[in-house]
Amino acid sequence: MLDVVIANGMAVLPSGAETADIGVVGGRIMAIGAPGSLAAIGAGRTVDASGQIVIPGGIDPHVHCRWPIVVPGTTQHQMTDGPARVSEAALHGGTTTILDFALVADGDNVQQAIERRQKEWAGDCHCDYAFHTMVQGKLPHELLPQLAEAVQAGHPSVKIFTTDITPSRKGRMVDFGDIWEVLKVLAQAGGIAAIHAEDNDLVMHMYEKLTREDRTGFENMAEVHTTLSEDLAFNRVIRLAANVEGAALYMMHTSAATGVNAIAAARANGVPIYGETLHQYLMYTAEDYKRPNGQIYHTYPSLKFQADHDALWKATDHGAIQTIATDEICCPLRIKLQGRRIDDTTGGNAGVEPRVSLIYTETVEKRGYGLSDFVGLVSANAAKIMGLYPCKGALAVGSDADVVVLDPRRRRIVRATEMHEADYSPWEDRDLAVWPSLVMLRGKIAVDNGIFSGDLKDGQFLSRKVPEEIRSRPAV
Ligand SMILES: [Zn+2]
Repeated sequence: MLDVVIANGMAVLPSGAETADIGVVGGRIMAIGAPGSLAAIGAGRTVDASGQIVIPGGIDPHVHCRWPIVVPGTTQHQMTDGPARVSEAALHGGTTTILDFALVADGDNVQQAIERRQKEWAGDCHCDYAFHTMVQGKLPHELLPQLAEAVQAGHPSVKIFTTDITPSRKGRMVDFGDIWEVLKVLAQAGGIAAIHAEDNDLVMHMYEKLTREDRTGFENMAEVHTTLSEDLAFNRVIRLAANVEGAALYMMHTSAATGVNAIAAARANGVPIYGETLHQYLMYTAEDYKRPNGQIYHTYPSLKFQADHDALWKATDHGAIQTIATDEICCPLRIKLQGRRIDDTTGGNAGVEPRVSLIYTETVEKRGYGLSDFVGLVSANAAKIMGLYPCKGALAVGSDADVVVLDPRRRRIVRATEMHEADYSPWEDRDLAVWPSLVMLRGKIAVDNGIFSGDLKDGQFLSRKVPEEIRSRPAV
């Protein structure tokens, strides 16, 4: 007997979308059959998904939970919302796996940093999760073998900044010599580098210039975090990686046409490189900084211009962009608005909840993308690149039963008051063409017609391994 059957839905399988029944036993997908075939066998519960779209649970490869935000004008920090709240919102919106970061702070050992983060999250996350290891500053030589050990222990992605981002965040940047060494280690051990690439010289030059000209309002952010900076930094990182046999790159929050072009050119040359963009870069431009509470659209590097927006969209259609993430920072509007300058405005956004439905609306409904392409952008591609596939990111026999049923009859307008994240949403008033009627995490129904039954004990840490295929050529 099957535990659950999701019957008659338009199921987005790895082979394409077709009407099918999906049978679940013990947290896994046990069978996929013709419409009505599994429902006829009988199950503990049969969900009729007629007229609805059935997809693998969303994967957000870039979120920050319980993350310190500097209080402007001080050296103090406020913490953003933790995994409990973010994961509840994620599940409501159809995301069942989130990837956050384990920061290796000064004096830390990599293993201790990861274990600390794991301890902090155990029993405090409703959905499944993993961490990118984040290194920063001058890297002590002892760190390199620790990174190799971490990759082999199931933490294959390492986040690196090529810039301090703002003058107040000094200490983030890793110099090119150290990046070179990390790339060599990752290539050897089977990892992938997740890069925040901006040209630090140009960024800091523009901070000085705008400060001198007394133009420090955040609406000038795109003049500091420029398309040229993305051009220089992306190409510099790519040239470095292309000279390390086996080095693979995941370019985080690509924001500009220059970044897209750099990734596309490298992919054409066979470099194993993948592009992530953020939903705000696809939906807003630097013009939106001028709107009331314009900070709510901001995340670093910065919103750019119409040409960038167009290039990013084009790249989501089998081009340089494989994943659409949120760069989630869940905090109240009051905190999101407290910085008003180019050097103190908070990055990140609330958005993990509407992401899947928003991207469905923008890709399938507005741009005519196929369902498989939509699923690639919100789930399957991240699973493949980050070493979770096909356990995650696939409706396939043997995969975890992370199943989301998207209902076109639940078309809705985004209202922050009806979401489960922050008290604001950068997506307020947006029309969503679908909304989940059912969200299942490893066979357990977490959200049923809007009713949440997730538990903080449900979320599991995911050990990952990036396949050779992903690390040897642009395979997604
Ligand atoms: Zn981030």
